[in-house]
Amino acid sequence: MYVFSKNSLSRLQTLDPDLARVITTAMNFQVMDFAILCGMRTVQEQEVLFKTGKSRTLKSKHLPNRNNQSEAIDVAPWPVDWNDHCGFHRLAGVIQAAAAIENVPLRWGGDWDRDNDTRDQSFIDLPHFELFRPFL
Ligand SMILES: [Zn+2]
Repeated sequence: MYVFSKNSLSRLQTLDPDLARVITTAMNFQVMDFAILCGMRTVQEQEVLFKTGKSRTLKSKHLPNRNNQSEAIDVAPWPVDWNDHCGFHRLAGVIQAAAAIENVPLRWGGDWDRDNDTRDQSFIDLPHFELFRPFL
């Protein structure tokens, strides 16, 4: 049975409740194991990622929102193999199915424009998912 590690659970607790629900549902599918690499991060952590080119923005959804929660998460199939891009795509399918069931609009870092074409991205961030609430 796949379960969250202690590290994953502590990161899960930094998430917006809608996002946490989606990720919990994805794990409960028991389709594949995955780890939560990052939930909320500090402004200082974001600045380092921006300066080293690992992030394209200083207004990341990983930063605390007005409720002091993260609206973004980084996840990876477990055990983590950064060269296994197919595994990340598979996990994205699992998480998007969970988001559909939970009725929570999500955006994946492998398909920023949400057109289901993963080949038209200028920046690819396969572990990244964020709430997509453009009208809130
Ligand atoms: Zn991210």
